[in-house]
Amino acid sequence: MQETGVNPDVCYQCGAKLMADDKAIYMKLVSRGATSFLCMDCLAVKLGCTRAALEERVRYFRESGNCVLFR
Ligand SMILES: [Zn+2]
Repeated sequence: MQETGVNPDVCYQCGAKLMADDKAIYMKLVSRGATSFLCMDCLAVKLGCTRAALEERVRYFRESGNCVLFR
């Protein structure tokens, strides 16, 4: 009954289960107020980069400790 059509826990493109990092990097790079998300694979395609590049940024943001999304 709660089905809204947008599940914030899965990628809205491919339906993959999302990790906290997937959502965090999406909010960081696409929209801070996002309510639906892409997995890193689909986000990489959207942004025209590689998944490895996104993982690199996740690591960077977490290690820098400056971003509240990565704690
Ligand atoms: Zn996906």
